Amino acid sequence: MVKPFFVAIDGPAGAGKSTVSQEVARRLNLQYLDTGAMYRAITWKALQLNVNLEDDNFLKKLIENTKIQIKGKQKNLIIVDGTDVTTKIRTPEINNNVSIVAKSPVVRSALVELQRKVAIDAGRIIMEGRDIGTKVLPDAHIKLFLTASLDERCRRRLKDFKDMNIKTDIQALKKELALRDKIDSERKDSPLMQAEDAFLIDTTNISFNEVVDKIVEIIENHKDFKKQDSKDE
Ligand code: C5P
Repeated sequence: MVKPFFVAIDGPAGAGKSTVSQEVARRLNLQYLDTGAMYRAITWKALQLNVNLEDDNFLKKLIENTKIQIKGKQKNLIIVDGTDVTTKIRTPEINNNVSIVAKSPVVRSALVELQRKVAIDAGRIIMEGRDIGTKVLPDAHIKLFLTASLDERCRRRLKDFKDMNIKTDIQALKKELALRDKIDSERKDSPLMQAEDAFLIDTTNISFNEVVDKIVEIIENHKDFKKQDSKDE
């Protein structure tokens, strides 16, 4: 039986949570879960059905009739009702709608339950999102809140889109990120906010490697953390 060790990473869109968490997880041999992908997956299905994304009754039925599976060694494949949507959920259309779906308490309670199950099954995991330290894993061993200036977050997102060959302009992107943060921070049910006991890391002026090194150090210095090689498991 693996002794649980949970790391919660929250922060606004584009703060580098996913890339940083994946690298930290790789270095320390922890599992990793990107909870945003789950909200994106439900949004993808709702958009396919072309319905009102603010209709809670519809979202309730949708969530009851949707099977979301997380697969792959690093839990990076998202399957919705048997369809692999891993790349389909990274489009500007999903970006522009996901926060509306994520406001719904019905959607949130179902996904939070699923996220907790993943954490318990994994045992040792880094989970990232918006409400991990405040709601999903309030007893996480380590809580981090990653942020960066809006300009820097836009610059990073622009690069991601360029790498995926998706055209977008910086002004539209800036508007989208700012609006998403506003909706995520102002919603009633588990809004985006720093947990009282979370470390704040502002990544605006620090390199990716420095952020990763800092987090690895914080985790390795935790009294309950024991490094485990994959062969030990
Ligand atoms: O992390 P990512 O940018 O992919 O998240 C997409 C959206 O999913 C967020 O803007 C937010 O609306 C929602 N989300 C959330 N709670 C989480 C993770 C993501 O509400 N734990």
